[in-house]
Amino acid sequence: MRCSSSSPRTRESRCRATSALPSACQRTTAVTWMAASHGPRLMLRHWRKSAVWLLLGALTLPATARPPIQPSRGIDLLLQATPAGIEIAAYRSRHNPPRGVASPPMAVAPGLHLEVVSTAGSVIEWVALGDPHLLLFDDLSGARPRLGIEEVAERWLRIPLAIPAGATPELRIRDQRGEIWDSVALSDLSDLTPSGDGGARRGGAAVEPVLINGDSAQRLDLLFIGDGYREAEWPLFRDHVATCVTALLGAEPFATYPTAINIWQLPLRSAESGADHPCDGIQRQTRLDATYDWPACRTRMMSYNYLKAWLIATAALPEWDNLIVLVNDPERAGAMPPFAPGPVYGAYDDLRYLTIHEWVGHDLAGLMDEYDATEDVGPIGLPYAPNCSASRLFPPWQHWIRAGEPGMGTFRNCAFNNLYRPTADACIMRESDVYAFDPFCRERAVKGLFKVVRPILGAEPDPGEPLLLGPGETVEIWVETLEAVDHKPVFTWWLDGENAGEGYLPWFELDAASLDPGIHTLAVKVHDPTAMVLKDRHHLLDDERSWEVRRF
Ligand SMILES: [Zn+2]
Repeated sequence: MRCSSSSPRTRESRCRATSALPSACQRTTAVTWMAASHGPRLMLRHWRKSAVWLLLGALTLPATARPPIQPSRGIDLLLQATPAGIEIAAYRSRHNPPRGVASPPMAVAPGLHLEVVSTAGSVIEWVALGDPHLLLFDDLSGARPRLGIEEVAERWLRIPLAIPAGATPELRIRDQRGEIWDSVALSDLSDLTPSGDGGARRGGAAVEPVLINGDSAQRLDLLFIGDGYREAEWPLFRDHVATCVTALLGAEPFATYPTAINIWQLPLRSAESGADHPCDGIQRQTRLDATYDWPACRTRMMSYNYLKAWLIATAALPEWDNLIVLVNDPERAGAMPPFAPGPVYGAYDDLRYLTIHEWVGHDLAGLMDEYDATEDVGPIGLPYAPNCSASRLFPPWQHWIRAGEPGMGTFRNCAFNNLYRPTADACIMRESDVYAFDPFCRERAVKGLFKVVRPILGAEPDPGEPLLLGPGETVEIWVETLEAVDHKPVFTWWLDGENAGEGYLPWFELDAASLDPGIHTLAVKVHDPTAMVLKDRHHLLDDERSWEVRRF
């Protein structure tokens, strides 16, 4: 749970502060869930919509079995938790999932198993999700598995699962005891993916481009959705979006990678202005049911109907990667509710702060608030957000401390708890008048971007086609990469496994005279050497392409 302002002094903060759920909390908790990138476990006692909606994540399904480089297909699943169990509520195809990035830990015992099952019933491929941001359902049904909090993973999972070309297998979800939660035929998935203008109309409004830098397949597509704006107030919504966009482009990672993002806006037609304030007895009819006083009165946090937002966004802009719900209400509040498809905030306060803190910080970078403890609580056993650590000696940002980065250390209090944070006061996750991240949190934001936008945007000729090279011929191979304002990517070319050149030039000239007749392999590895990233265990800043060269 993330908030935008001061930490709430509530019973919830006491409950969520210890690693074992106190029984008093369990008794009053309708649903207990826990978000990996969302920090502390959250007790929701007043979730008005009764059902809990969550995003399981995106499954990356290569279009063919094991091609050299092929566009891949992805699926986002939206699961609904009900007292009877879990159902797949909706899903959408994604055309731009990164390949093999941010996979959850394989072979982790607790959690879910996703299986791709052939029409003959055999398991073609499977992956285990030990991911904590799925859900805890213990209060809904004792039969549901509990998922550990050990692994801090991203909210959007991208799991490469190979399926044979032309097959129509099904996706099966099992709990840790092997029982099937649900299954869906993969061939059905495209049926629910609206596209084109018809899709936009189905969403009840037309999506408007705000800032388009390129093909959505190679960019992060951010969609602003307005809630509580009557049609006469749509110009106001557009003004609010423009303020947010200015804020985004002035903050990392977009200050360095301004062309990495496409921005869209969707002004939904609400019957009334504003949002619900249930603790004041105010109810307003709006499209996404945005509400203040969430998850309790006077928290300065808010929420909305995830499913409606998810479906409307998908209908209007199937290629959206992230969304932000702007609420036409002057009261200051904001939050990134666990499992929500994006943050929500009131559009009249400091939009610069809210956009950077709520979306870039909580959503894109997966950071937690660095606020002080508000209760006398002990440390939890394990860290649950990268920027809040129980370990003073080995925090996740220790590589920055070892590198001698000024200001980096371990400072008491983070995530409403007596955890450690990376800097005293250099991060917007703690200080509302700091419109930037400390080096570690900035590194997380950059890596969050590179999970969606890859260093290589395109290549010519198409790596999927064999390169034919006759006697006396030469061919130039070009690679288009993501632009940075202050540095260039490094290209390393490999010919038949031998280093054939390295530097900043995005092309390679292949001369038939240098090759014996036969089949050869040309590959390029691209590395983005940004100084904002010191540690890149998943090689998010590396990318590669390869070509089969037929010399005849
Ligand atoms: Zn926050």
